[in-house]
Amino acid sequence: MTKNHIPYPSQLELPAFVNEPIFPGVDDPGIQKTFPEAIAKVRGQLGRTYPLYIDGRDVTTDATLDSVNPADPGQVVGKVCQAGQREAEKALDTAERALQTWRDVDPSQRAQYLVKAAALARQRIFEYSAWQVFEEGKQWAQAYNDVAEGIDFLEYYAREMIRLGEPQDNGSYASESNVCFYQPKGVAVVIAPWNFPFAIACGMCSAAIVAGNPVVFKPSSQSSVVGHHLVEIFREAGLPEGVFNYVPGPGSQIGDLLVDSPKVAVIAFTGSMSVGLRIIERAGRTPEDQPSVKHVICEMGGKNAIILDEEFDEEAAIRDVLYSAFGYQGQKCSACSRLIVVDKVYDRFVPKLVEAARKLKIGPAEDPSNYMGPVIDAKAQRSISEYADLAAREGTVLYRSEVPEKGYYAPLTIVEGITPQKRLGQEEVFGPVLAIMRAKDFDEALAWANSTRFALTGAIFSKNDEHLDRAVRQFRVGNLYLNRPSVGALVKVQPFGGFKMSGAGTKAGGPDYLLHFMDPRCVTQP
Ligand code: NAP
Repeated sequence: MTKNHIPYPSQLELPAFVNEPIFPGVDDPGIQKTFPEAIAKVRGQLGRTYPLYIDGRDVTTDATLDSVNPADPGQVVGKVCQAGQREAEKALDTAERALQTWRDVDPSQRAQYLVKAAALARQRIFEYSAWQVFEEGKQWAQAYNDVAEGIDFLEYYAREMIRLGEPQDNGSYASESNVCFYQPKGVAVVIAPWNFPFAIACGMCSAAIVAGNPVVFKPSSQSSVVGHHLVEIFREAGLPEGVFNYVPGPGSQIGDLLVDSPKVAVIAFTGSMSVGLRIIERAGRTPEDQPSVKHVICEMGGKNAIILDEEFDEEAAIRDVLYSAFGYQGQKCSACSRLIVVDKVYDRFVPKLVEAARKLKIGPAEDPSNYMGPVIDAKAQRSISEYADLAAREGTVLYRSEVPEKGYYAPLTIVEGITPQKRLGQEEVFGPVLAIMRAKDFDEALAWANSTRFALTGAIFSKNDEHLDRAVRQFRVGNLYLNRPSVGALVKVQPFGGFKMSGAGTKAGGPDYLLHFMDPRCVTQP
């Protein structure tokens, strides 16, 4: 095959990928100055109106939604224009038009837009983090690391596309030569959650875009102001019109429309199991006017367990269990919501854990001395409080914290006496409720860890090599951590995602991810 017939020869070399440095800590002198400055700057910008972004233009709507500070619901973070059927259709049409040119843009050229967008986010990392403190009640470190992860996705997927964009010489047979390469699937709909409002949205959108698929992005209604940061970085990076479209709006009203559209070839979703399963089911329908089979990339919830074995580092376990269960109020898909402790150490360890939990301060995330902040909204507050009440019926509550009166706070709750048969042993709470389970030995602990429909993250604290070996093989989750927290995956080095009812095994931030946005082709010639 002559060079001329190779479709996309690589034109760009980038330095090797390195993860963005994570938050240096609230005591860092630089942080102590820069973070409060960023918070003050953002405070001065609260209450602005955010238009939709379709075909490279701002689009305003009569309908707007107030996005509020969960620590102070009277404070409007931003007024977000809301897409209805008309705007959603327009965005899909635009993306379909943009596909005609974007799909044939050289992959390495597409990658350059991501690298530019990463540079813009890096410049604004403090400001973007501060927005998350206001809109999502994220602690400084959690917010900063979210933006850093978004930058990692941009940089990593840029390099991945350059790697995958290189056509593969598949060798010759009977004097014919063969080359294989990838082409984008088509229009992508991206539907994102609020809990990693920049990182996850940025990851799904950038993967779709760099693989050649124009995007219609629907952020979560609770994080649409942060979702608009993607408009800023992609617009300023010079992404061609129509390749990225931002259509915030209620999932219950425009979700089905976006998912059902025959114009859509691929849907990237991260969120709850119920919405994820609904999307998979609807995307499986193929009306006559639909040209291709829809592919759904689907990352869903978890009911993650940490096992404490007979021998382990107690101090590390207390610190890491608390962080896994109550960091960002337990509102991470990877959060620990079941602590399985073997009988032999149970009575020694559990009281110490509870004692340490009593010391955790709860209040607005703006104040870095608060370990836990508000939950995302009144609905979440209600649902978590119901689970905290259920805890008293299903087990024995060891600790239920006080919470500030103003704001959407849910009590930090630790309950014991939970078994796999109970609801708290099975259902995702998505808040600061930790169910403790007393297992008779390691075998039972492992069986219980695997006893839910979910398989997202898990951790084990043990000094027993044989048990660690068994956990590696038999603790069946997408991301398993040995002697460390169950949260905090890093792009490239720890591809993230689960299976069973936690997801379709797509692993964001890993080497297989972009393949979900593309179709392989093969060309043969004498
Ligand atoms: P969610 O309620 O499922 O919402 C996720 C997204 O789906 C939002 O943008 C939502 O829009 C939209 N949506 C709602 N109804 C829809 C419909 N009928 N059709 C299409 N889209 C619809 O989840 P969430 O509360 O944002 O996020 C928390 C969940 O996400 C937890 O279960 C958590 O475990 C999971 N999660 C998983 C991962 C992972 O990597 N596995 C990562 C993060 C979070 P509106 O906001 O407008 O309703």
